[in-house]
Amino acid sequence: MQVKCVICDNIEDIEDDSLQAKRLRNRRIHMYLCNPCYSRVKENTNKRHATGEFRLYREKKQPNDLI
Ligand SMILES: [Zn+2]
Repeated sequence: MQVKCVICDNIEDIEDDSLQAKRLRNRRIHMYLCNPCYSRVKENTNKRHATGEFRLYREKKQPNDLI
């Protein structure tokens, strides 16, 4: 089946009976990332964890506590 990458709009052909194709058909994943984008996203996520930027989520919570 043909799938379109949500980041770069690149169209790729994946095996119809691959696990990824099955998941996409069952809507268990709603978006497809091509391999270059996937590794880029993975890299960025790792970097974010390394720099401790995930603390931002905790900071965002504070205004809610005041309301
Ligand atoms: Zn892509």
